Amino acid sequence: MSTITLLLPDGTKKEVPQGSTGQEIAQQLGKKNILAIEVDGTVQDLMKPLESDKELNIKFLTFDDEGGKHAFWHSSAHVMAQAITTLFPQAKPTIGPPVDQGFYYDFDNLELSEEDFPKIEEEIKKIIKANYEFKRNVITLDKAKRLFKDNKYKQEMAEEYANDGKELTAYQDGDFIDLCEGPHIPRTGLIGAMKLMKISGAYWRGDQKNTQLTRVYGISFPDKKQLKQYLHDLQEALKRDHVRLGKKLDLFVVNEHVGQGLPLLTPRGTTLRRELYRFIQDEEIKRGYKYTNTPVLAKTELYKISGHLDHYREHMFIFKMGDDEFALRPMTCPHQYMIYTRKKHSYRDLPVRLAEIADLFRYEASGELHGLIRIRQFSLADAHIICRNDQVREEFTNVIELIQFVMKTLGLAEYWYRFSKWDPKNKDKYVDEPVLWEQTQTEMKQILDELKLEYVEAEDEAAFYGPKLDIQMRNVYGKEDTMFTVQMDFVAAKRFGLTFINDKDKEEEAMVIHRSSIGCLERTMALLIEKYAGKFPLWMNPEQLRILTVADRFNAQAQTIAQRMRDAGIRVEVDTRTQSISKKVREAQLDYVNYICVFGEKEADKDSLTVRHRSNTILGMIHVDTFMAQVLKDIKNKTLDV
Ligand SMILES: [Zn+2]
Ligand SMILES: [Zn+2]
Repeated sequence: MSTITLLLPDGTKKEVPQGSTGQEIAQQLGKKNILAIEVDGTVQDLMKPLESDKELNIKFLTFDDEGGKHAFWHSSAHVMAQAITTLFPQAKPTIGPPVDQGFYYDFDNLELSEEDFPKIEEEIKKIIKANYEFKRNVITLDKAKRLFKDNKYKQEMAEEYANDGKELTAYQDGDFIDLCEGPHIPRTGLIGAMKLMKISGAYWRGDQKNTQLTRVYGISFPDKKQLKQYLHDLQEALKRDHVRLGKKLDLFVVNEHVGQGLPLLTPRGTTLRRELYRFIQDEEIKRGYKYTNTPVLAKTELYKISGHLDHYREHMFIFKMGDDEFALRPMTCPHQYMIYTRKKHSYRDLPVRLAEIADLFRYEASGELHGLIRIRQFSLADAHIICRNDQVREEFTNVIELIQFVMKTLGLAEYWYRFSKWDPKNKDKYVDEPVLWEQTQTEMKQILDELKLEYVEAEDEAAFYGPKLDIQMRNVYGKEDTMFTVQMDFVAAKRFGLTFINDKDKEEEAMVIHRSSIGCLERTMALLIEKYAGKFPLWMNPEQLRILTVADRFNAQAQTIAQRMRDAGIRVEVDTRTQSISKKVREAQLDYVNYICVFGEKEADKDSLTVRHRSNTILGMIHVDTFMAQVLKDIKNKTLDV
């Protein structure tokens, strides 16, 4: 009997008979909780026989591996669809993929409310208990058309796969059959616990012109305890959710007459934004950036030169006025280039660092919009560093140091970098400057290593015009997102004539670095709201102090003290309502005001305040001047834990 040689992740080799399944091999090796197998980098079913005349790299996947988790969640989607079509036989399943957290399935012809969830979950339990095997069958297009004769969506997909020359497969568990590429876990019984999460609308193939479908989201785990933990964590995350807190703390609103994705910042929200704005602008000016102020719109001609009009048109707001066509700008770059080209530059003038907190406009699909994170107008702390090739190293280092300083000042520690590089083989995607690519990437890597940064490398993820560094974070729900990027650009100089006169008196093209330092103010606000769960550090809190008067006769004097504080730059409010002090204290705590100051008879006599921190730490009676000095010092130092 012929055998296959398997190479395991620990470097050991194993001989198994041809046609052995992953399941059998896992059993022989005593592997537990295996859901799928990765063979030469491709995830496949454990039940699929392995055949090969050369050595195979294999890895067994559990729920802790991305591939294992996806097979698990995708299999759960089948089980959910099975339960739903049992209870609602008229429903037409379309697609049901795993997502970041769980899975969904889209159905046509299904009216559902969350009140139906318990009975669907009961049906799911039966399917899990029956412990059906997920059987994989290769089928012909004719067979697919017969199997799914009542489902035009499955037929459409089957035809599409067949036209692409793909093998058609169907998976069956119990009497439920789905057209599906797999991979799947071996049996339904491996699903320990499943819960349906929510219902939303979706369009077939994501196109608004198509039929609207009902999307049902679910989550599942191998173990009931994991589901319990997940639901608990979700509750905790919800407490920090910036959309919820933004409303509770009166930071921003969305109004249907203004439009989705266009949040309106309230006075309190605007204060938080202003603190970030001033902080970053002051810091960048100290570090040698020059601020510009350029229009939020321009003739589309400008974006023709930059290439945005060709590549980005569907995300741009474009309109005609008189004889000209205009666009709201999606990016700042071309505007600032026009400032650079207003005069000639010598090599001694470089680097030129042009910064602007720029209002930008991007048409995001309504399904993508979210709170302050995905919006249609936002303010990016943007800059373009125009420099010589021999300055890239130092400029890039300075940018990283600025980012580190900003993150530290904001108290955002949980971020990492993604170094997105080109792929020399992908000639169509990238500008043909192999020497520049290699040189710049090598320098970037050296700097990242020297600074001992935590980063992941991503091949073939660069922009077409140069490598980039993405600053990555997770939101409260664990979803990874790019906060902002630092991009090298070999192309802009040519397109826009960004040149300088070099030391040999020749005109030479400059290098451009696009970068942010704090990202979009709105998105950063969202991250800060979630990070601090609304309990902002003193320096950025919209309301830093609240003075609570114990009786009306102290109101005037309290207002005078408050004005002294405002004159010094402290944000303070006076609560003069005729409520009990304990109620006023409670409300100030719920508004997360940093310091709550009681003002009555004995305080008035001594020009003092009785102060407590929102954490309930009592600071006692303090003279107004002493207290102000302490508060101002913490504001100036941007102390995080007050
Ligand atoms: Zn499937
Ligand atoms: Zn740019």
